[in-house]
Amino acid sequence: MIKNVMVIGAGQMGAGIAEVFAAKGFSVSLHDREEALAIKGKTAMEARLRKLIAKGYAAEEDVQSTLEQIHPTADLSVANEMDLVIEAATENMEIKKQIFAELDQVVGPKTILATNTSSLPITDLASVTQKPERVIGMHFMNPVPRMKLVEVIRGLATTDDVFETIVSLSKQLDKVPVSVEDFPGFVSNRILMPMINEAIFTLYEGVASAEDIDTVMKLGMNHPMGPLTLADFIGLDTCLSIMNVLHEGFGDDKYRPCPLLKKYVQAGWLGKKSGRGFFQYE
Ligand code: NAD
Repeated sequence: MIKNVMVIGAGQMGAGIAEVFAAKGFSVSLHDREEALAIKGKTAMEARLRKLIAKGYAAEEDVQSTLEQIHPTADLSVANEMDLVIEAATENMEIKKQIFAELDQVVGPKTILATNTSSLPITDLASVTQKPERVIGMHFMNPVPRMKLVEVIRGLATTDDVFETIVSLSKQLDKVPVSVEDFPGFVSNRILMPMINEAIFTLYEGVASAEDIDTVMKLGMNHPMGPLTLADFIGLDTCLSIMNVLHEGFGDDKYRPCPLLKKYVQAGWLGKKSGRGFFQYE
């Protein structure tokens, strides 16, 4: 039975994951490298929720009780009190392996270690722990409170019991879990990210402007958001990491990241979260 949940990484995904668990009454420790970052994640969430109250989409008392369930921290050792830890730190294998190796030292034998990685192999991540059978992918979509899908990815050693717990927990959060095998990019990003990368090549080659590329995909293909806006929204650093994982994982040059994507990331133009990507944000 899952009661206490810890989310590692208080960025856009971690804060969203913490919010959906807290809204369902789970007690959530929201962790980041520094306490100030964990608090910042909670503050950003509160600002979003207050806007929903102002628009009449959320009730003050529900928001209040959600916020009360979220406890920011920079102390990884509180993981020893958790039934479930979901890692949602930066999309980088070294960072994630370091976190999993540290968690392995503190959690008890029953704790489930989940990762929200968009593309990295679950089996590889599990290999740094003594309990690979308790490691699983629980891949939420962005923005977490709105998007229904959760890809559930078993590593080679993941037990049926852990898999079924995560499937039923996803349903408890009003999400729709889909079982996916442990291959680079899973299903979602194996299909989505090459499309975004191709949109960036289209811009790079001067075929059309960023606005026009997005308009073609919105009005022509009925996508709710153009691919370049979506890339900005996901984070260009995350997009680049995913393309690198696909490129390396499949060894196929069709997944080579566009040089323009690399350049933007080098410049610190990471999309909406940094204020500038293919478009500019306030
Ligand atoms: P983000 O950059 O908004 O947040 C990452 C957070 O991780 C930051 O707050 C950072 O301080 C923290 N962090 C970095 N190293 C850490 C460490 N050692 N310990 C604790 N915290 C640490 O990124 P994001 O968009 O929230 O992505 C997080 C994860 O979710 C990635 O694995 C990403 O692939 C995945 N994901 C992202 C999206 C998306 O649309 N952005 C969608 C699904 C999954």
